[in-house]
Amino acid sequence: MSFDTFNLSSELTKALEKNNYKTPTSIQTKVIPLVKTKQDIMAQAKTGSGKTASFVIPILEALKENKSEKKAQKKDKIKVLVLAPTRELTLQIAQTFSTLSKFFSKPLSIVSVIGGEKIGDQLLKIQKGCDIVVATSGRLLDIISKKQIDLGTIEYFVLDEADKMLDLGFVQELDEILKIIPKQRQNLLFSATYSPKVIDIASKITTKAIKVEVEDAS
Ligand code: ADP
Ligand code: MG
Repeated sequence: MSFDTFNLSSELTKALEKNNYKTPTSIQTKVIPLVKTKQDIMAQAKTGSGKTASFVIPILEALKENKSEKKAQKKDKIKVLVLAPTRELTLQIAQTFSTLSKFFSKPLSIVSVIGGEKIGDQLLKIQKGCDIVVATSGRLLDIISKKQIDLGTIEYFVLDEADKMLDLGFVQELDEILKIIPKQRQNLLFSATYSPKVIDIASKITTKAIKVEVEDAS
């Protein structure tokens, strides 16, 4: 199995090569083609199995196609919202988006929305035109309360490491966020483990997700 089977663009292929991604992991093999079918997905695979790239790769390809069709001057609207449990994971995900889109001729704008950094700076970056927001829920709601960002254009909603987001505070924040983003969107949920609580959170987001599981292979 090689990344060639996914018919990826030469720009993305080059980035994968530069980063030593030679063969897709099991979860990537299953998830990448499924994302393209526009269905909701609930994917479970153990930590370290490459879940990040399994959503980053197909999303980047979709945005790239879209971007090349678009008129140059138009300000970019947020198309992807990723929620992650911690600042560190948020930064890692944003980094993966930026590393794998490094060779795109029209660069994508990726903004991390996390606590501990100036909210004004994050807002400014978003307002300049932004394709992808990777956020922790608390800071995202702070930004939303300022009413200066438009989340009505979201096409992809990703919840990463869902099993690390089970506390009541997060569930309430998720409810708030779900009220704001469009109902019509593709939902991609990732978790290292399944539990009734993970399934409960997933059911708030989507009831029609296809379940993808990988046993213990990486
Ligand atoms: P998970 O979210 O499942 O815990 P990550 O997405 O964080 O796993 O990936 C774990 C590590 O594996 C990262 O350092 C990532 O860069 C690397 N990785 C992911 N996919 C591949 C691949 N196909 N080939 C080589 N390395 C990969
Ligand atoms: Mg992960």
